[in-house]
Amino acid sequence: MRYLLTTFGCQMNLADAQRLRGILARLGFEETQAEEEADLILFNTCCVRQHAEQRLLSRVQALTDLKRRNPGLLIGIAGCMAQNHQATLFSLLPLVDLVFGPNDIESLPDLLAQARRGRATGEFATRGGFTGEEADGIILDRPFSAFVNIIRGCTNFCSYCIVPTVRGPEVSRPPDEVISFVADLVARGVIEITLLGQNVNAYGRDLGLTEGFVALLERLQGVPGLRWIRFLTSHPRDFTPAAVDRLARLDKVCEQFHLPVQAGSDRILALMNRGYTRDRYLDLVRRVRAAIPGACVTTDLICGFPSETEAEFEETLALVREVRFESAYMYYFSPRPGTRAASLPGLLPEEERKHRLARLIELQNRISWEESQKLVGRTLPVLFEGHSERTPGHLLGKTRTGRAVDCAAPPTLIGTIHPVRIDRARAWTLSGTLVPPA
Ligand code: SF4
Repeated sequence: MRYLLTTFGCQMNLADAQRLRGILARLGFEETQAEEEADLILFNTCCVRQHAEQRLLSRVQALTDLKRRNPGLLIGIAGCMAQNHQATLFSLLPLVDLVFGPNDIESLPDLLAQARRGRATGEFATRGGFTGEEADGIILDRPFSAFVNIIRGCTNFCSYCIVPTVRGPEVSRPPDEVISFVADLVARGVIEITLLGQNVNAYGRDLGLTEGFVALLERLQGVPGLRWIRFLTSHPRDFTPAAVDRLARLDKVCEQFHLPVQAGSDRILALMNRGYTRDRYLDLVRRVRAAIPGACVTTDLICGFPSETEAEFEETLALVREVRFESAYMYYFSPRPGTRAASLPGLLPEEERKHRLARLIELQNRISWEESQKLVGRTLPVLFEGHSERTPGHLLGKTRTGRAVDCAAPPTLIGTIHPVRIDRARAWTLSGTLVPPA
């Protein structure tokens, strides 16, 4: 039997996709990229913005004809949108046979069995866990690199965000489990891990640990054979100066820091319930850059938040000019039903929100391009991840700061780290020359 899995959204969903593949392989399924060949079509969904949900609805409706031609085909919806809408999805999308949330991945075998018996069912646990998440139970996109969930859910309740509602409260995976999970991955050939959580800096708080995250990093630093450690997503409120200092001593931890700021105005940050001020954020960035040479700082930004004035938007632009992020994910505010911000007064016209976003993107793109130019002439270690889609005979890799590098290199170097001299920089991709071994 064959399955087609499509994953939308964030890295947490990519990590869940590793588990979904593992479960389906154990059930004897093989993966296919062709809808026509599939016996199961599974969507691992996102609901962080209205657009993501619209896209899923149209993707499923587009399967109407295929399902008519292949009545045995099963269609499933997993992930955050499944949790957000639950069983109502069966009436919204009559084609669908099974629906389950991000905390119910282990229920897939049972849901499939019921679906085959013609019973369309769903599972929607409100609290996450790590049951069944074993290194030999997941299938990696790349054998040398793995996403590692360390904390599920979120209790920050930023006023615009639906995640706490769909992924539940913070649940940290015990440190010993994380260490043995990673050691097993390394034994399988993994050299790079990306630790994941909605807020990794809160890691261990629910286990009664203080500075649990940096303590975990210190233990992972000691795992033999592990080369690079990345993590996301951080929360500026919980990223302490002490953690920055301790983290700076760990040479396996890559100099890549995704620090979502969201806005530059203290009044808007308070309305967002972010829990920090503009100055507190700027101080964190200064500390990271002072303690970690070459640190790359990226962020998330929302413009056009309800009641945001032109002057407050200017504060966001000024913060972007001051910090000079290497890159940023930028959005205009879209109200999410079920969030507090959806009922805040002062919703700006969509045209105005779009206009602010366009101004923000223009500024950030210029800064990203200028910051990229500073890398030209430097020699950087690059982990080669695969073949370049742009240039035949080239490989594509990532630097420790997460920059994409296109470089002429033999396929035998995929999955290994090598120095590359950067010859040219575009806003998002660098190109360079492999530095021959000394
Ligand atoms: S920290 Fe805020 S924005 Fe991030 S997942 Fe939690 S509630 Fe959402």
